[in-house]
Amino acid sequence: MNIINMQQLETRKEIVEAEQQSKRMGKGRAIALSRRIYRLLQTEDVFYVESESTDNVYYFVKFKSGVIEWCSCCDNSIRGLKCKHLWSIESAIRFGTLKDLDRLPTEAKVKKVITAAATKPLPTKSYTEDNYSF
Ligand SMILES: [Zn+2]
Repeated sequence: MNIINMQQLETRKEIVEAEQQSKRMGKGRAIALSRRIYRLLQTEDVFYVESESTDNVYYFVKFKSGVIEWCSCCDNSIRGLKCKHLWSIESAIRFGTLKDLDRLPTEAKVKKVITAAATKPLPTKSYTEDNYSF
């Protein structure tokens, strides 16, 4: 009985994670179509993605397909997930909505970069393994 419950929970967790992943993918697509995404010309793998909720506030993102995918938001830098900003860059490249710039417009504000190093070191064990309940 216990084993069956554990398996069901495991399957449910995977479904939830897959749903959240596709939600981030959809949000990324929406950002690519409705918000501004800039690529800096001098440094090809540096991008700025406008916040979904706040105008002129940007996330700093490093992206090079298959090489580096890093975003300053919590989802990526803390939780290690492929966030909506990374998805939005992939979509923007596909849709051709990416804008190349020499430098960010003066009114642009960049979100404070969150790095794992600036926070407490992450435990080697994933938090999802700890008494994680739905
Ligand atoms: Zn992000």
